[in-house]
Amino acid sequence: MAAREPVIIVGAGPAGLTVALSLRLQGVPVIVLESEPGLPRDLRAGSFHPPTVEMLGPLGVAEDFLALGIKVPRWQIRERRELVVEWDLGLIADATPYPFRLHVEQYKLTPLLQRRLLSLGGADLRFGHTFLDAAQDADGITARIETPGGIERLRGRYLVGADGGRSAVRHTMGVDFEGFTWPERFLVASTAYDLAPHGFTPNAYVSDPLEWAAIFKMPHEGPPGLWRILVPSDSEMADEALLEPDYVEARLQRFVPRAETYEVAYKSTYKVHQRVASEFRIGRMLLVGDAAHVNNPLGAFGLNGALHAAVNLAEKLGPVWRGEAEESLLDRYVRQRRQANIEFVQAQSIRNKELLQERDPTVRARRLNELRRTAADPALAREFLLRSSMIASVRRAAEIA
Ligand SMILES: Cc1cc2nc3c(=O)[nH]c(=O)nc-3n(C[C@H](O)[C@H](O)[C@H](O)COP(=O)(O)OP(=O)(O)OC[C@H]3O[C@@H](n4cnc5c(N)ncnc54)[C@H](O)[C@@H]3O)c2cc1C
Repeated sequence: MAAREPVIIVGAGPAGLTVALSLRLQGVPVIVLESEPGLPRDLRAGSFHPPTVEMLGPLGVAEDFLALGIKVPRWQIRERRELVVEWDLGLIADATPYPFRLHVEQYKLTPLLQRRLLSLGGADLRFGHTFLDAAQDADGITARIETPGGIERLRGRYLVGADGGRSAVRHTMGVDFEGFTWPERFLVASTAYDLAPHGFTPNAYVSDPLEWAAIFKMPHEGPPGLWRILVPSDSEMADEALLEPDYVEARLQRFVPRAETYEVAYKSTYKVHQRVASEFRIGRMLLVGDAAHVNNPLGAFGLNGALHAAVNLAEKLGPVWRGEAEESLLDRYVRQRRQANIEFVQAQSIRNKELLQERDPTVRARRLNELRRTAADPALAREFLLRSSMIASVRRAAEIA
């Protein structure tokens, strides 16, 4: 009987639903627990790299997903108003069927994953169910869950913590979240004002010691879409002050001055961390996605890395659950994805932020000149694009035994 016990997945975010869907496609029964009453619809990430779209193919959602997005084959690094380099993913068209970044709001992916998961049958998705803690023994896991009807106990063979940065599963595992938190908050504002006539590609990063920025054009409710502008903000200011219309307007005017007032459709602030869990696996409990690692959004590695890890984990957990592979295969997931995260996602996202915010004009000029040289050399440009598109990190992880 124990062999048929399901995998319990905590969190119906992109990582949890991807693990669930991939396991269901392998015939593994799953229970997904989500504390919210429905799929969360907050703004968050929205720039998808080529390997991520490739991974959605076997899950049966790539076509629908592609139809929802804006394809971004070219993106820029700028210094204030000036263009430094414009990258063209066409240079790596031989390395991926999707040589572009795909911009789609994160909250549009999760309903696709949910619909596909439920269409397969055998998946039990429970909203309003909050994981509290769990105990494990030789055969499985017993989790304590807060449900609308009171506390329940649930039995499973393995438990996957896909419950985000504040992961209760990680706390239950007694695992440290090693790293640091950046002092400043990030302010994000979305506007319909078109930045294309100002020379911006739908994805751009602007280097400036005080006013650095990241730009993402998002589909929103269809054309013309919204331009999402992310800037750093004073760590001393309270959230309410950062979100004051006058303050947001002043920041946008400093970014691209114009005679009219900006119409702001959405605005939010958030704190940004660089942290990796010291362990991704304790026996039958595993961590994936933000529960295992978090990083700043410069380079769009957070959600993409979460999905790469989710697919990798499910590929190993499926055979282990069916008894076709030793449990030690799960440690390969840990080696591959922990290393990929530390070596690439953490290192590169920190470097990206340092490049944008560099205050020393000599150092900034040197770094931007290096980028110009890289872009001018086809071999170096190709290497840069394979790396920034996360193709190199996925290939590197696959090599780890
Ligand atoms: C405010 C914000 C802005 C972001 N912006 C960007 C960005 O611009 N670019 C980028 O690349 N990344 C960004 N990210 C990161 C990106 O959104 C995450 O990497 C991505 O959501 C990770 O997916 P996940 O499934 O691991 O976690 P999540 O999306 O956090 O999903 C976790 C799920 O678990 C549920 N849950 C939590 N605790 C429990 C519990 N105890 N029991 C049951 N369910 C539980 C939550 O309700 C949630 O649905 C942002 C993150 C935040 C928080």
